Amino acid sequence: MPAQIIDGKKVAAKIREKVKTRIQQSLAKGQNPPGLAVVLVGGDPASQVYVRTKRKACAQTGIRSIEHDLPASTSEEDLLDLIDELNNDESVDGILVQLPLPPHMETSKVIERINPDKDVDGFHPYNVGRLAQRLPRLRSCTPYGVMELFNHYGIDVKGQHAVVVGASNIVGRPMTMELLLHGATVSVTHRFTTDLAAHVGRADIVVAAAGKAGLVRGEWIKPGAVVIDVGLSRDEEGKLRGDVEFEAAAERASMITPVPGGVGPMTVAMLMMNTLEAADLRRNHPAMSR
Ligand code: NAD
Repeated sequence: MPAQIIDGKKVAAKIREKVKTRIQQSLAKGQNPPGLAVVLVGGDPASQVYVRTKRKACAQTGIRSIEHDLPASTSEEDLLDLIDELNNDESVDGILVQLPLPPHMETSKVIERINPDKDVDGFHPYNVGRLAQRLPRLRSCTPYGVMELFNHYGIDVKGQHAVVVGASNIVGRPMTMELLLHGATVSVTHRFTTDLAAHVGRADIVVAAAGKAGLVRGEWIKPGAVVIDVGLSRDEEGKLRGDVEFEAAAERASMITPVPGGVGPMTVAMLMMNTLEAADLRRNHPAMSR
């Protein structure tokens, strides 16, 4: 029987609605809306699309979007100065610097400059370290979104064998730590892994995040497994493709995310949630702030 489709679009809409309601409640109490600064350096077309989507989600949820579109020629020093300014601006609750940055900038230096309390992407070593120590604060949006999908569909990862395909700082590693935190037994695979098929074949849960269209073959999937496809790439015709051979995998899996309409919308929804949580932490629970 073909797998049940995990509808990320629907769950993301619910989360955005939840964020919107909470913001309306705080506005009614006389508080200001949360503010999210989205910084885009250069004109990378994919980044422009992501940034537009994020700003649209802000408008939908009632988050104040603060836009900083800088030319690709911006110096690293000027970007760091802008981050300092945003760190010190009381009306800014979240700061997101869209990646990738132009090659003359050091990504880790830029990320580390963001106040961890405003790091709504969850990429700062402080927030990554908190997750590693089982004390998550601001959580990386894509893995957080995947955990919310599990939550929504009643998928308990505890004791399950999860295989993560990809070990990047943005997806694979924080995903691994989220799964571990929630009690899964996790195998992490990456570009040097030999026999990916054997690892995937043992997984109760597969999270594919390698960015290679069709890398995970349908025939590898263990019957009844849950398959989450984070991968996003475009084929020669410009069509969006995931990392998983969808049709063949759906014949074996119990549940599967489509591409598009699976994890993608969740990432943006969790960014909205993180901005609200960052605002709440700073305004209502200052004691929890660092
Ligand atoms: P990345 O290129 O930084 O990392 C890719 C990872 O895959 C690396 O760890 C690499 O070792 C691993 N890998 C490469 N070949 C492999 C193989 N044959 N077997 C196992 N592992 C292999 O990419 P990223 O930033 O982590 O993103 C991964 C994918 O997820 C991309 O397609 C990206 O567009 C997508 N993405 C989607 C969302 C979303 O919201 N849906 C968010 C972030 C990233």
